[in-house]
Amino acid sequence: MSILSIVLPAYNEEQNIANTARVLSEVLEENHIEYELVFVSDGSRDGTFSEIGKAARENPRIRGAEFSRNFGKEAAIFAGLGLAEGNAVIVMDCDLQHPPQAIPQMWKLWLEGAEVVEGIKESRGKEKLSYKLSAGLFYQIMSKLIKMDMKASSDFKLLDRKVVDTLLSLPERNTFFRALTFWAGFRTESVFYEVQERQFGESKWSFFSLMKYAITNATSFSTLPLQLVTVMGIVSILFSVALFIQTLVRFFSGTAVEGFTTVILLILIIGGFLMLSLGIIGHYIARIYEEVKGRPKYIISRTTEKNVIKTDEGSARSRQEV
Ligand code: UDP
Ligand code: MG
Repeated sequence: MSILSIVLPAYNEEQNIANTARVLSEVLEENHIEYELVFVSDGSRDGTFSEIGKAARENPRIRGAEFSRNFGKEAAIFAGLGLAEGNAVIVMDCDLQHPPQAIPQMWKLWLEGAEVVEGIKESRGKEKLSYKLSAGLFYQIMSKLIKMDMKASSDFKLLDRKVVDTLLSLPERNTFFRALTFWAGFRTESVFYEVQERQFGESKWSFFSLMKYAITNATSFSTLPLQLVTVMGIVSILFSVALFIQTLVRFFSGTAVEGFTTVILLILIIGGFLMLSLGIIGHYIARIYEEVKGRPKYIISRTTEKNVIKTDEGSARSRQEV
């Protein structure tokens, strides 16, 4: 009998855990799907983990882990993938914005041989205008850089065991789950869903956290910004050649001198380009620095089974190999 694992990252979601666990088990039991629910509390500062513990005592198919601090949703997803034991794994938000009603359909596609089932957003649901704008900008930048249409994609996906193991074997620390499944390939099917309203609490993303997320993911998935530096260099060289000629012509025709404006403008433009370029290069060096340090993606301080301290094994292994 095949088992479906559901991975649920949770950050300060104490109000959602019990309800989500109940709704999911109902849907899965109704559809006769063998399942386990894996909650990963991402260093929550409220009672999220004790809620997970309570749910786990009531239903043996529920398990959970707690991070030692907030490591971010990506880390929580990967921790959940590492803990999941099912033949297929679904990743979904624990605020029920990803409709559980789509799960039987995803499961059916998997039974029919799909290795990845992408959840595609049909509508973005009700969101604040500011959030819509920043999320819109975020996806536009991401889609351009990654060269994949990210607009409708989400973290709501089903992955076959093969795909999960592939993702877990990737050595990189700065992961972008949503795009990695595109990158990995495999036989992919899609399921369309309407984004639901959040059950309790509020969204954890602010404009700045989204921008940071965009820049981190863009640079971990694309080196295009680095090539941009070259382009800027070429543009300024062409510009200087033009000015060079103009200056010489003026010099020989005796109408030179009043070039003060040009000098100031040139200094500003070149200075701006240089600093921007250094910033972009610096950002990549920061990424390299983080990867080279080889620190684990997350640290698990507690699980519902026993109190163990665990980090992601992938990195422990890769450190030994070095
Ligand atoms: N989340 C997380 N760590 C974080 C932020 C969010 O694990 O640092 C989880 C959160 O608990 C939720 C999911 O990621 O299950 C999506 O977060 P949220 O609902 O705040 O984002 P939105 O739905 O507004 O995009
Ligand atoms: Mg949400």
